[in-house]
Amino acid sequence: MRKISIAGSDKEIEVGKLVCLLRSYKAHADEMMSAPSAVPEFFLKPASAIIENGGTIILPKESIDVHHEVELAVVIGKTGRNIQRGVAMEHVFGYAVLIDVTARDIQAKAKKDGKPWAAAKGYDTFAPTSEIVPKEMVGDPHNLDIWLKVNGEFRQKSNTKNLLFSIGQIIEYVSGIMTLEKGDIIATGTPEGVSQIVDGDVVEAGIQKVGTIKVNVKRG
Ligand code: MG
Repeated sequence: MRKISIAGSDKEIEVGKLVCLLRSYKAHADEMMSAPSAVPEFFLKPASAIIENGGTIILPKESIDVHHEVELAVVIGKTGRNIQRGVAMEHVFGYAVLIDVTARDIQAKAKKDGKPWAAAKGYDTFAPTSEIVPKEMVGDPHNLDIWLKVNGEFRQKSNTKNLLFSIGQIIEYVSGIMTLEKGDIIATGTPEGVSQIVDGDVVEAGIQKVGTIKVNVKRG
């Protein structure tokens, strides 16, 4: 079990599963030479991959091409199944900044061989996550600047208005397949600009009104 702090309080949330969208920003689907998702397709990432602000991403020996993907994370506050989009926001506790770290070479091989992405996405330390900000502090999540820097230089810069699905649509789709429980996190996918991180890099990411996270990168 992983616990993440709630900003501005001494409380924590126990994290359940990480639901991660793919190709949910057109410009990122384009750079991956893939079609954007027509529905909020997703994969699961283990909560054991979470590290907090100030932590270190460990590059696995098996990969020579690990990428960053900055994403708006939606934290579920109320358990539900078959949640309709009109009431979906009642199930949201808040938001965080999540970096969906990806072993791109392992993922490319899995795609080619028709194998799962679990290894490419699931290494320990592959889900740096900021403190959680209650939704009331953020307001509309569909128009927030989102960015990521490596060693002080911008690599990703977009806005959540470019996300192809609303948070309500995403929650409706996912909860039609599996129960969304209190403490589950939905990482809503990354905008364009994903690129390699290497030993010694410092990665900093942020989302307007939500917060920032800064982590180091080390070769394992
Ligand atoms: Mg991603």
